[in-house]
Amino acid sequence: MIIVCPACGAKNRVPEDKLTAQPSCGQCHQNLVPLAPIELNEQNFSHFVSNSDLPILIDLWAEWCGPCKMMAPHFAEVAKNNPHVIFAKIDTEANPRLSSAFSIRSIPTLVLMNKTTEIARISGALRSSQLQEWLDQQVQAS
Ligand SMILES: [Zn+2]
Repeated sequence: MIIVCPACGAKNRVPEDKLTAQPSCGQCHQNLVPLAPIELNEQNFSHFVSNSDLPILIDLWAEWCGPCKMMAPHFAEVAKNNPHVIFAKIDTEANPRLSSAFSIRSIPTLVLMNKTTEIARISGALRSSQLQEWLDQQVQAS
């Protein structure tokens, strides 16, 4: 499958059974599947999303949002346990065009995408157990 390097944007072909073995980018040698959320923005979003073969779970957040900050460590914890899903964050303040493209009305909002198709979304802060449960349901259903 194709994984887009979150550091340099290079497309890497990775065998599915190597996903959990910390594959690194052929170009910049950074970790291709970091077990921490990556940052997406208006510059890298469409390249990353349209070229990645893994589902992407995006946390749309803002600096001033208390519940977003509460959820951040839970989001990071669930990211560690799910190497077959890419966890990404979008700062809605810094990326107003993305936030309006997603028609975000409240934050935090989580959007699960498969390439450019939205599979599911949920709004409001979740604890790690709730987040994992929700994610499992969506991945099974898709
Ligand atoms: Zn790279």
